[in-house]
Amino acid sequence: MNGKRAVIIGGSVGGLFAGNFLIKHGWTVDIVEQAQANLASRGTGIARHDELEAIFKELGIPPDDTVGVDVNGRTAFDRTGAIISHFDLTQRLGAWNRVFQPLYDAFPKARYHNGARMEHLETNGDISTITTTDGRKFEADVVIGADGFRSSVRKIVAPEIDPSYSGYVAWRGVSQEANLSEEFRANVFHHYAFLFMRSSLLIGYPMAGEDGSIEPGGRRYNYLWYYPAPGQQLTDILTDTGGKVHDYGIPPPLMQPEHVEAVRANAKRDMPASFHDAINMADTTIVQPIYDVLSQRITFGNVALIGDAAFVARPHVGVGVLKAGQDAVALTKALAECETVPAAMARYENERLLAGQRSVWHGRDLGSFIERGLDRPEDDPNYNLPPERAIKISGRPVEHMFEQGL
Ligand SMILES: Cc1cc2nc3c(=O)[nH]c(=O)nc-3n(C[C@H](O)[C@H](O)[C@H](O)COP(=O)(O)OP(=O)(O)OC[C@H]3O[C@@H](n4cnc5c(N)ncnc54)[C@H](O)[C@@H]3O)c2cc1C
Repeated sequence: MNGKRAVIIGGSVGGLFAGNFLIKHGWTVDIVEQAQANLASRGTGIARHDELEAIFKELGIPPDDTVGVDVNGRTAFDRTGAIISHFDLTQRLGAWNRVFQPLYDAFPKARYHNGARMEHLETNGDISTITTTDGRKFEADVVIGADGFRSSVRKIVAPEIDPSYSGYVAWRGVSQEANLSEEFRANVFHHYAFLFMRSSLLIGYPMAGEDGSIEPGGRRYNYLWYYPAPGQQLTDILTDTGGKVHDYGIPPPLMQPEHVEAVRANAKRDMPASFHDAINMADTTIVQPIYDVLSQRITFGNVALIGDAAFVARPHVGVGVLKAGQDAVALTKALAECETVPAAMARYENERLLAGQRSVWHGRDLGSFIERGLDRPEDDPNYNLPPERAIKISGRPVEHMFEQGL
């Protein structure tokens, strides 16, 4: 199918993985991205996996040992701050911009259309026409919806699939290493830490500095704290200082200060003092409501969904970026190797539908004790989640669990 045209909606990591691979396979590709600004500035930490490095290698993006801070495993702490378990697993903890930027640099800029929001998608099964809010029109043999968890493409092709709220949020923040206390740096900073508390869980780890530094003193600390926020509480958190409710997520500067103060007060009450810096020294406090997106199909004629548009597993699984890459590899290989678009779509769905569903189910299991308000993850014996097992099976591709009998 060399020479065919694809339009990709969404120019984040999933869209760029797919776009770069399709260009390698001889396709003509346009990426339509609604954001005006470069997406590299999203400041979050990304735990990297060997499979992600392999995808970069396949794209011809050279390995780079400076993309993250290496840790030697995960450490579980109980609510008093005592270490209760450790699991050896070398991992590199990187940052969003070190994933996004090389993918963006590799893609031809003339075909990356910033500030273009897809508004209409019409398809006759063979050719699709996309119209953007700024009046641009694109025709394509294949449309790839890589437009994230609130996907506009999914709303058109599968309006019945809606994100479902888990009942809890992740409070997140990043601190500069230099601002953290001696005690925190000595006892907590270097761990990939899982702090188990009543119906809540904090994950924290070191990451590279804003300038990419992985040297002591120039790094940062990233935390996310899963915390219950049932219905009305979530609405309150998402209501800005002017009374407007921001469905799905509120920009940090608009959040009512009392919610940030409540996070600090809860930390003081629920967390051992050794962890307080993670919350109190963070530059900003971000809230991420935790949703599941569980699709029953990911291809619709000549339209395919990848990444978060197809499935969103809770961050306990920690492989959103990798999954976007794996979806992109599977789809673009199928388009390169099959003789027709329908054959490629069938192969892609066959390869990635169950994998996506499994990661959503896995995330639900890992977060079940928070969702259900249980004191500890091991309190429901059906899930078999004592902390020593939880730290082994969190933050990893689901396939690892099957391969390694975890
Ligand atoms: C705070 C936070 C922290 C995270 N931490 C991690 C982590 O540590 N590890 C990990 O693996 N994953 C993490 N994730 C998840 C990860 O970021 C996502 O899984 C990943 O970005 C999915 O990539 P994507 O390309 O499918 O979607 P997205 O990155 O969501 O990108 C979708 C893109 O589509 C664009 N778009 C949407 N609608 C339209 C439209 N109509 N027209 C044009 N463009 C449109 C958006 O502007 C956006 O750029 C985190 C997510 C968040 C929010």
